[in-house]
Amino acid sequence: MKERKGEAVSEVDAIGDLLCSMSDALWDHPQVKFRETYAAGLFETKLQEEGFAVKKGLGGIPTALSGTYGSGKPVIGLLGEFDALPGMSQEAGILTKKPVQEGAPGHGCGHNLLGVGAFGAAIAVKRFLEKNHLPGTVIFFGCPAEEGGSGKGFMARDHVFDDVDAAFTWHPGEVNSVSVSSTMANYQVRYRFYGKASHAAMAPERGRSALDALELMNVGVQFLREHVPADTRIHYAITDTGGFAPGIVQDFSEAVYLMRAGSLDGVRELYRRVNLVAQGAATMTETKVEEQFIKACSNILPSSRLNRVMQKNLEAVPAPAYSSEELAYARAVQKTAGSGKTYFDQLYSACDSEKDRERFEVQRDLPLHAGALPLAKESFGFVSSDVGDVSWNCPTAQINGTTMPAGLAMHSWQVVSVGKSSIAHKGMLYAAKVMAGSAIDVLTDPSVAAEAKEEMDRRTGGKKYVCPIPEDVKPQI
Ligand SMILES: [Zn+2]
Ligand SMILES: [Zn+2]
Repeated sequence: MKERKGEAVSEVDAIGDLLCSMSDALWDHPQVKFRETYAAGLFETKLQEEGFAVKKGLGGIPTALSGTYGSGKPVIGLLGEFDALPGMSQEAGILTKKPVQEGAPGHGCGHNLLGVGAFGAAIAVKRFLEKNHLPGTVIFFGCPAEEGGSGKGFMARDHVFDDVDAAFTWHPGEVNSVSVSSTMANYQVRYRFYGKASHAAMAPERGRSALDALELMNVGVQFLREHVPADTRIHYAITDTGGFAPGIVQDFSEAVYLMRAGSLDGVRELYRRVNLVAQGAATMTETKVEEQFIKACSNILPSSRLNRVMQKNLEAVPAPAYSSEELAYARAVQKTAGSGKTYFDQLYSACDSEKDRERFEVQRDLPLHAGALPLAKESFGFVSSDVGDVSWNCPTAQINGTTMPAGLAMHSWQVVSVGKSSIAHKGMLYAAKVMAGSAIDVLTDPSVAAEAKEEMDRRTGGKKYVCPIPEDVKPQI
C-alpha cells in the first residue's frame, strides 16, 4: 500500500504544469466574494474532464460547487478557496507596489494557490481510488467568499458537509506546518440609523441626526470594550456618514460591525450588548436603528487525530528545494516588507521542546522556511476562518504551505506579487501532496476516521452544530 500511496502522491507532479497554469489563470482573473465566476467555471470544467460529478450553487451561492468521485465510505472532503481581495491589484514578480489596474482586486491571501492545491489533491486521490478499485469517496469543495463572506457557513447551513468523514485543506503562507490552533467565531452586522433632515442653522430643533446616533453608538462600544472578555474583538467601519454637507442634519448613517470571540456563545453575548448600545444611541438621538445580519462563522474545532495524520505526511513528502535565483529573489522581496513579529516567530515562541526548537533554529534565518516544522501545541489564534463551520460538521485539519518569503504580511502587495512565482508553485504542489497523502491514510485505515469522529464528539460534548447564520439571511452577492 505504501508504494501505491507514493504513486498516487506523485500524480500531483504529473499534473504539475496543469495546476500551475490553473493557479496563474486564477491570479490573472481575481474576483471578490460571491463573484468568483471565472474560478468556479474553471473548476467545473476541469472536474468534469476528470470524471467528477459536479454540483453547483451550493448554499444558495452561484459560485459554490462540489465535484464528487467514488462511492461509499469514508468520504473525504478537500476544501478549495479561490476568492480575491478588493483593491489589491498588483503586478507579479516586481519589487515595488504597482497595480495592474488601480482599485481592482488581487490575490493578497494566495487563494489562487489554495483552491488549485486542494483541487490537485482531489485529482490525485481520485486516481488512487480508480487505479486500486477501492471504496470511498473524494469530494472537492469549491468554497467562495472566505474573505468577508463566510461562504462555507452558508454551505454548512445547506448541509453540504454532513456526510464528510474527514476534511483537509491548507493555506499559503511562510511555513510548512500543520495549523493546529483554534480560531475566533464572528458575527458581521450592519447598523443603519434613520433620522430627520433639517436646516442645521435655521431649524436645528427639527432635525434628528443619524450621524450623531452612529457616533454615540461607536463611543458606547469603545466603553464596552473595557468590560468584555479578553478573547473578544470588536471592529467597525463607517460605511455611510449620511452626506457631505454640514449644513444639513444627516438623516441616514450606516456602520458595519465585526464582532469576534473564542466561541459562538461569546459572540452571541457580545452581539446582544452591542445591540443594546445601538438602541441606546437611537433613544438618545430620537432616531431609529435597523440592523441587518450579514454573516457569521464558527471557531475552529481542532482535530488532533487528523493533525497527526497531516504532520506525518508533511514530514514524509520531500519539502521543496530552491535555486540560488529563487533565494535571491526571496531576499529582495523580504527587503521591501519591513520587520515585525512573524507567524514563524509565533510558532517558535510556543515551542517547548529543545529538540523541536532545533528544527526551528536551522530555518530561522532562511529567506524561505521550507522544511517541515514540528507539530505545535494547540493554541488560540486571533483570526477567523469559515473553515470553522466545516470543522463542527466533520473532523477537519489544515496545513500551512510555504509559498512566499519569510516575514511578509498577509493581505499585502508583496503576497500578490509573489503569487505566480516558482516559489508559490512549489509550495502549492507540496501542499497538494501532503493533503493527498493524508486523505489516502484516512481512506486506507478505517480506524483514523473512527477515532477522529470520537474525538470530535468528545470536544463538542455531543452538541449538534447549529449554523450561526440565521435561516433567513441570504449571501449578499
Ligand atoms: Zn485572507
Ligand atoms: Zn486566506
